[in-house]
Amino acid sequence: MARQFFVGGNFKMNPNTKEQSLALAAALNDAQLDPATEVVIAPPSLYLLPLKEKLRKDVQLAAQNAYFKVSGAFTGEISPAQLVDAGVPYVILGHSERRTLFHETSEIVAQKTRVALDASLNVILCIGETLEQREGGKTSEVCEAQLKAAVAVLKPEDWSKIVVAYEPVWAIGTGKVATSAQAQETHADIRSFLSKAISPAVAAATRIIYGGSVTAANCKELSTQPDVDGFLVGGASLKPEFVNIINAKK
Ligand code: PGA
Repeated sequence: MARQFFVGGNFKMNPNTKEQSLALAAALNDAQLDPATEVVIAPPSLYLLPLKEKLRKDVQLAAQNAYFKVSGAFTGEISPAQLVDAGVPYVILGHSERRTLFHETSEIVAQKTRVALDASLNVILCIGETLEQREGGKTSEVCEAQLKAAVAVLKPEDWSKIVVAYEPVWAIGTGKVATSAQAQETHADIRSFLSKAISPAVAAATRIIYGGSVTAANCKELSTQPDVDGFLVGGASLKPEFVNIINAKK
């Protein structure tokens, strides 16, 4: 079965007012979006509930993070169960900013993924190498190590609720997008790892999306690559061009 194209908008810690975040939702509500593409936006958690009320129903919401415990004394954290209760179907886990700035290891990300799936969330699982690792020829090794931690705690059937986001750290927020050849090569490597580590069927069905300086100008070419199943968009998801990226396949 063909993999449905997937475009996620990661607002990160933007914008700074509820009004502005509602305006981003309103812009999507007014836009013509390719009905064949699955669209998910991840605003700051404080804005999930107001956006849930106003956002068109064919655009889904994601949290940008969640904790690996069901509830309890974990000041400042949000549990997967609370997201489910709020009607939020997706969570982004393992974003490089969480790995780098908040010291989340692949094991922590895997644990979070396990608990999120148990709560029946869908997970956008982010992986990717630094510039130093790419230049050292370690891209596949790094991506595989990040995925291996998840493979160790997941069952084959869990992967139907996971979208893998390949986001080279050197491309995130830098304006330095991977070339379509670089993206395709790494996505193909990731798929072949999934095939060996889990099964050919899971590898064929799992969506692998690209993130890192995706814009309206570069999305079309990237979207033609056979193993690029969509995008995770940061900066450009706050701009009108996000609609063009959603419609990359149109
Ligand atoms: P960017 O961010 O599009 O601003 O590079 C992508 C991401 O961090 O998901």
